[in-house]
Amino acid sequence: MKDSIFSLRTFAKIFSLLICISVLKCGTSSSKSQKENPPIPGSNLPRTSLENGFYAILVGKSFYPNRLTNSETREGDSEIAHISFLIKLEKHYILIDSGTSSNVVSADRVIHNWISPDKILGTAGIKPSMIQEIILTNFHPDHSNGIGLFPNAKIYITPNDWATLKEINRSKPFLSKLLSIERSKRIQFIQSSLEVFPNFRILITGGNTKGSIAIEWLKNSNQKFLITGDECYWIEFCKNGIGLPSEVAYSILNNQQFLDYVSIVSSSGTKVFTMHDPSIFSSKEEVFPRIYKLD
Ligand SMILES: [Zn+2]
Repeated sequence: MKDSIFSLRTFAKIFSLLICISVLKCGTSSSKSQKENPPIPGSNLPRTSLENGFYAILVGKSFYPNRLTNSETREGDSEIAHISFLIKLEKHYILIDSGTSSNVVSADRVIHNWISPDKILGTAGIKPSMIQEIILTNFHPDHSNGIGLFPNAKIYITPNDWATLKEINRSKPFLSKLLSIERSKRIQFIQSSLEVFPNFRILITGGNTKGSIAIEWLKNSNQKFLITGDECYWIEFCKNGIGLPSEVAYSILNNQQFLDYVSIVSSSGTKVFTMHDPSIFSSKEEVFPRIYKLD
């Protein structure tokens, strides 16, 4: 029975990918010019606004045990980044994970060199009220506890992870913020795979947490992105099929199925990003402090 579920799910994921690829091929030829934007010579140059595009926001870094990630080693700690992604399409701003409203993630974890994500965005002229949508890849505090910084944002989250987020905060002041967001009907529950805008889809993965998700953006036939959430920490190990350890996975089976999907799409040109791998910053331009242009 498990084998048949595995086959069906894998088939469904591959089938949906093929549909998206064919849609892109059938679409109008709008692959014109990402190259119109002149290069910015160096970082931290004063600019009045951010151009349309896809960005990584570096909220801070911390040290994290390798045994809790998809590392091939179980010993020691590695420095991970805490990343949110920003998509700007004209006046439409979407955040993938909110970052944190404090450098303290939990009783035993602190983010060093932390800057509040609203402050980082502010340097690019983006006010908190301008963020219309926040997609939460999972309920963990380092991904979700900054949602209160953005007063107008609709929050995309699965019902399972929203319930867990409330549960883990039930005796904390943050619960009242969550309930206030809920009362203001700013929660968009993700019940199944969902297209937020054309060719930009939320995929339910359910390997990391019960309601964890990934994001797939098939921008055009040459630019395809997959944001894994915490189904993977390290991009290269992810592509090599190394998944989460059982200690931190909600479902090893779901996680491994997602990695199968990563393998398929990355081999056909999709760029893979995780929420914690600092390697994504090495070759990207810091167009504003802590804001890196990915595309
Ligand atoms: Zn994480």
